[in-house]
Amino acid sequence: MTADTITAADIRINARWLIPVEPEAVVLEHQAVIIQGDRIAAVVSQAEADRRFRTRETIDLAHHAVLPGLINVHGHAAMSLFRGLADDLPLMTWLNDHIWPAEGAFVDEAFIADGTQLAMAEMLRTGTTTFSDMYFFPEIAAQAAHDVGMRAQISFPLLDFPTAWGSGPEEYLSKGAAFIEQWQDNTYITPAIGPHAPYTVSDEPLTQAVELSAATGAPIQIHLHETQFEVVDATGKNGQRPVARMAGLGLLGPNTQCVHMTQVNDEDLRAVADSGAHVIHCPESNLKLASGLCPVQRLADAGVNVAIGTDGAASNNDLDLFGELRTAAMIAKVVAGDASALSAHQALAMATLNGAKAIGRDHELGSLVAGKLADIIAVDLSDPFLQPVYDPASHLVYSNHGRAVSHSWINGVPQLQDGKLTRIDVADLMLRVDSWKQRIRKQQAQ
Ligand SMILES: [Zn+2]
Repeated sequence: MTADTITAADIRINARWLIPVEPEAVVLEHQAVIIQGDRIAAVVSQAEADRRFRTRETIDLAHHAVLPGLINVHGHAAMSLFRGLADDLPLMTWLNDHIWPAEGAFVDEAFIADGTQLAMAEMLRTGTTTFSDMYFFPEIAAQAAHDVGMRAQISFPLLDFPTAWGSGPEEYLSKGAAFIEQWQDNTYITPAIGPHAPYTVSDEPLTQAVELSAATGAPIQIHLHETQFEVVDATGKNGQRPVARMAGLGLLGPNTQCVHMTQVNDEDLRAVADSGAHVIHCPESNLKLASGLCPVQRLADAGVNVAIGTDGAASNNDLDLFGELRTAAMIAKVVAGDASALSAHQALAMATLNGAKAIGRDHELGSLVAGKLADIIAVDLSDPFLQPVYDPASHLVYSNHGRAVSHSWINGVPQLQDGKLTRIDVADLMLRVDSWKQRIRKQQAQ
C-alpha cells in the first residue's frame, strides 16, 4: 500500500455543493477547492483532499453552493452615484435631459474614483468578481479596481463630441492607446476600446478603433441595436442597419462585444454569428428604458456567445447580477415562447464562462477548473427563502438574490467574508457618497 504524496497549499474551501460550470450543467456534493497562490490547484472530493493536501487555512461552507465568481460584462460603474436620479423616462429623454447634463456638471476624477468604488462594493457584495466598465477617466477606474483587487475590463470612451475626458476622437484615441499600453499585462485589468454607439461615433474613428484593436489585441465594446429608434433612424440616414454598417467597417469580430441587441433580424443574426462577435444581454436596463428584448435563445442557437451585464445603476437600478440572471431567464422564455429556453445551468454559464469568453479570458476565468485563477464565490443556501434545497442551480437562478452571497475570493485573496467586504471601507465610502448626493441634489434643484 502506497500513501498519497501530501502537497502543501494555501486555502481549502469545503463546499456542500459545487457548480464548477465546466463540466457543464453538473452539481457536485462535498467537494473541496484547493487554492495555491492566485490559482485553483485542485477541485476534488473532500475525502481525496484529506489524503492529498495540507493547507494553512480551511473554510467550511456546510450550507453553501460554491461557484465561479460572476462576470458582469457591461456597465458604467461610476453612474452608481446617479442611481434613482431620473426614472420612468424613454432612453433619449433620459440621456439628453438628465444624464448627459448631470455628467457635464459632475464627472471628474474624484467622481469616478468614488462612484467606481460604490459600484464595486455592491458588485462584490452580490457575487461579481469581474466587471466591465465603459465610462470617462478610465485610468481612474482602472486604478480604483486595481487598488481593491477586483478584476475588470475597463474600456476608454470614444465619441464624436468633447467630454470631460477629451476634446474629440483624436484625443480619445491617443489617450486610449496610452491607457492600453499602461495596463495591457496586468492580471486584474483588461484595457479595452469603448466606442459609445453607432449613432455617436462616425466611420473614421470607428475604423481607427478597429486598427487599434488589431494592433494591441484590446477588445472593443459598443452599444448596438439598443432600441428600435436607433435602427430605424440609422437606416433612414445611412440606408443601412447599424449592424451592417459595423460589419462593413470591420468592427464585428471575435474581439468585439455588442451590448443590448434588442433588434435582431435574420441578416443581423447572420452577420453577428459569422463574425464571432459576442452579445452582452442587459435585460433589466432594456426593460426599464422600454428598449426591447434581446432574443437570447435565437442568438445562442445560431452559435453566438451571449454574456450578461447590468448596465449602469442609473438605468437598472442595481448591480446585482443574480437578480439580472433571474430576469434574463424569465424573459428568455417569454421571448422564445418556450419554458425550456435558457435553463438555470445555461443562465449560470452566461454569467460566468460566457462572460470570460466575451472578454477573451476564458482560458483563465469563468469555471472552477485546476489551473484557472482563483475567482470563487459562495452562496449561503440556509436562509428560509432558499429552503428546501432540491437543486441548488435552480435556487441560484430562480429564488436567490445577491445578498445571500457570503464569501468571495479574487486571485485567491478574500474579498467577502461572512457577508462583509474585506478591502473596501464601507463607512468611509458612505460619507463620500452622501457628500456627492448633497451636491447633485442641490444642482438638480436649481
Ligand atoms: Zn450601457
